[in-house]
Amino acid sequence: MQRLTGIGVSPGIAIGRAVLLLQNPLVVRFPVKAGRVDDEVARLERARRLSEEQLREIKARVTRGASDLGHLFDAQILILQDPMLLARAIDVVRREQVNAEWALQRAFEDVSAIFDEIEDPYLRERRGDVADVAGRLRMNLGYGRSAGRELFRDVEEGSVLITDELTPSMAAQVDWTKFAGFASDTGSRTYHTAILARSLHVPAIVGLGDASARVLPGSTVVIDGATGDLLINPAEDEIEATRARAARWARALRSYEHYRSVPAVTGDGLAISIQANVELPDDLLFAQEYGADGVGLYRSEFLLATISPDALSEDVQYEAYRAMLQRMAPLPVTVRTFDVDEEQLVSWPQGLERGRAATAARSRGPLGLRAIRLMLARRDMFRTQLCALLRAARHGRLRLLFPFVSGIEELREARAVLKEAAEELERRGETAPAVPVGVMIEIPSAAVTADLFAREVDFLSIGTNDLIQYSLAVDRTDARVSRLYEPLHPAVLRTLRHIVRAAAHQGTPLALCGEMASDPVLLPLLIGLGLTEFSMSPSAIPVAKQVICQVRAANMRRVAQRVLRMATVEEIERHLLASLGEVVRRATPDDERVDGAT
Ligand code: PEP
Ligand code: MG
Repeated sequence: MQRLTGIGVSPGIAIGRAVLLLQNPLVVRFPVKAGRVDDEVARLERARRLSEEQLREIKARVTRGASDLGHLFDAQILILQDPMLLARAIDVVRREQVNAEWALQRAFEDVSAIFDEIEDPYLRERRGDVADVAGRLRMNLGYGRSAGRELFRDVEEGSVLITDELTPSMAAQVDWTKFAGFASDTGSRTYHTAILARSLHVPAIVGLGDASARVLPGSTVVIDGATGDLLINPAEDEIEATRARAARWARALRSYEHYRSVPAVTGDGLAISIQANVELPDDLLFAQEYGADGVGLYRSEFLLATISPDALSEDVQYEAYRAMLQRMAPLPVTVRTFDVDEEQLVSWPQGLERGRAATAARSRGPLGLRAIRLMLARRDMFRTQLCALLRAARHGRLRLLFPFVSGIEELREARAVLKEAAEELERRGETAPAVPVGVMIEIPSAAVTADLFAREVDFLSIGTNDLIQYSLAVDRTDARVSRLYEPLHPAVLRTLRHIVRAAAHQGTPLALCGEMASDPVLLPLLIGLGLTEFSMSPSAIPVAKQVICQVRAANMRRVAQRVLRMATVEEIERHLLASLGEVVRRATPDDERVDGAT
């Protein structure tokens, strides 16, 4: 057996026989007689018409599938209509008197070279759309394979597609009833094909390097879209184990589906608000699809993952915030101001891989000039962000959140910069709406003084990722101590209780947006501690809702009271799992803690 590891971009497991699709073009060149030049041009134009028809058809199909990914194909139609590709190819046919395929290849290479020069990694990646359009034109020039679905007509159901590159339009045309998943040599998490795969619920791995050269057609392969593992010719027991895991997954997925559109209310009628943590715009799609009650944490520093700090002008930011607010309206969007350190400001995006909260928290300089501290030291940058946010606030329900605040002075200073931003807008003749302001409670000093913050803010949001590591003095990146990073530590639970009481005493709304809320074992305990508003990664929302609907808040309050008197994590965990019983077993098919407790 051989194991290759790439980037898992769409979770789920696929086992089947490999079908290979190689898209790398083989292009011939030959001269055409002067009298045939017009025919070659006509072939290009016909290919353009056909391609446009196909793209419109793909767009309609994708949109029918309740996905709003149709815009991906609008971009491709625009590329088709843009003179940069086709007019360039026609020009090559006429000037050099060569066949249409060769001219198209030449035009594509010219355009690719322009994209390669672009510094912005997001825009550079859009070169893939141009390649996709060029591939479709090539196909429609009449050589090689027939278009789209026809291509896989005779493929056995349950196959696994292994490819050098799967372009978005090809992915949208593949008959996924035939394929259980796909793996490709190229691609990234943000490439449109990955987005499509998640939306179609097709297990997928990208960025495998040379998988298409290693896998023989017809060999048995296993794809794990969560871990990014591709197994080639696995042994029988390996396949059996994977099958069992796949069955658990499928069962879990079926039960989650139902909870997408169901409100989160406990068995005894307590309504819980579940919002989404958002990093990149694609997350919004999932937030909406999974029925989030709003965006509880937009990590705005992820704007820097696609736009360099120098290019992040007020207008560019305004557009990004406006789009998000408009899209979520009338639901609230909580934007956290930049939480970066100095080094990340210069080295972004390399300084921060796209990662979930844990990664983000880990890669920042832990105790230095970061987040609100850095913004107060770089007031221009801070004011620019706040101006952009205040302008965008007109388009939806914005809430402003300041990260990594350690004392009231920082909050007051940040508010002063917010006031400056509002005055600046007024000077320009624009109105600055009043926006609710909150702080993250993620440093122990802020937790201890939560009552002071509760008096001065409109809301509080607990960041358990940082709060736990600083409360317990555990650097999670240090493997020798990472087992001490323990959300169920009595100190963490007591701290949470303290914050809940402080907020309740002042009547200040309180949310929790750290990873702790995504854990189906911990979420009921958090409800028992008195929390009713959570924000989590969108993919965790259906499971969270399932758990909430099955527990009773009154029971969880009793459990919380009991565990708050316990001395060790082990005792607390045992009691919690025993109290949750079936609820949590159903929600966590792969959880060792739960297996261990039975
Ligand atoms: C946290 O610290 O819990 C949090 C939500 O923020 P981040 O993970 O981005 O530090
Ligand atoms: Mg944090």
